[in-house]
Amino acid sequence: MINKLKEITYLTIKDLKKQSIILPGKYSDIFENYAKELEVNLDDEKVILKDLQKDTEYVDKIVRKTNDNLTALKASTSNARKAIQNKDEESLNNINNELEEMQKQINTLQKELFSDPLTGAYNRKWFSDYYLKDDLFVNDGFIVFIDLDKFKFINDNYGHIVGDQILKYLVNFLQKELDNPAVDILRYAGDEFIVLFNKNKSSILNPDKKMKETQDKLSKLVLTSSKIKKLKFTFSYGITPFKKEDNIEDILVIVDKLMYKNKEENR
Ligand code: GH3
Ligand code: MG
Repeated sequence: MINKLKEITYLTIKDLKKQSIILPGKYSDIFENYAKELEVNLDDEKVILKDLQKDTEYVDKIVRKTNDNLTALKASTSNARKAIQNKDEESLNNINNELEEMQKQINTLQKELFSDPLTGAYNRKWFSDYYLKDDLFVNDGFIVFIDLDKFKFINDNYGHIVGDQILKYLVNFLQKELDNPAVDILRYAGDEFIVLFNKNKSSILNPDKKMKETQDKLSKLVLTSSKIKKLKFTFSYGITPFKKEDNIEDILVIVDKLMYKNKEENR
């Protein structure tokens, strides 16, 4: 089995090298085809491949919509030039309306581009493109690194769908508990999240205290659903201040260590 998987991977990579743009879904398509050819049953891998497929569709949708907007923008600018040359007021009004509509769509697209499709939290693209500049912080603040405890256990015992719901629930919970214009929440990866307390925007007087209270409150909650009677989950976190011009990599090393220390204490 392992050798066959190796062979499928080798064939898949060989095919991918011929493509100019490689989307995650492409990988799964080719991989699945070769698996079929070599009569390998993917069963467990299926879940992961399906997740990749979701990502591809999401990216495809954004690319398609952006392209539509660019095409419309091209037409509008060319019409605008003509209208200005001919001093045609009615056409200019029409163009103005078109541009307003396009602006709305671009705002929506930008929001989608910067948010994690599952939880609605900001994504890493937002963090690197918008929050940081060349990997450096642009203001002072506090950063919190969160990792769910024993999340694999939840996935293994209740299934991935419940796991996904827990991730959504966590973001919702954090948004409610830390509801303040100075706070931003992003999904860093899998079950890892980052909370940013921005010093310049407003005052959350004590981020340390606020995070401790939030962690305690979640640990006492008992969730229920039609199929699950009692479900509890917790997270561990590290928190550290950062200054303008600090490098994100250095800060992540510090805050990750603090998170692990907290995880050890909670065990
Ligand atoms: P620990 O307390 O040491 O953090 O244990 P853990 O089980 O949480 O281990 P770890 O943080 O290393 O694993 C995170 C798991 O999160 C692995 C992966 O199966 C799961 N995961 C990652 N992304 C998703 C997702 O989008 N949905 C679901 N349901 N699970 C995910
Ligand atoms: Mg974890």
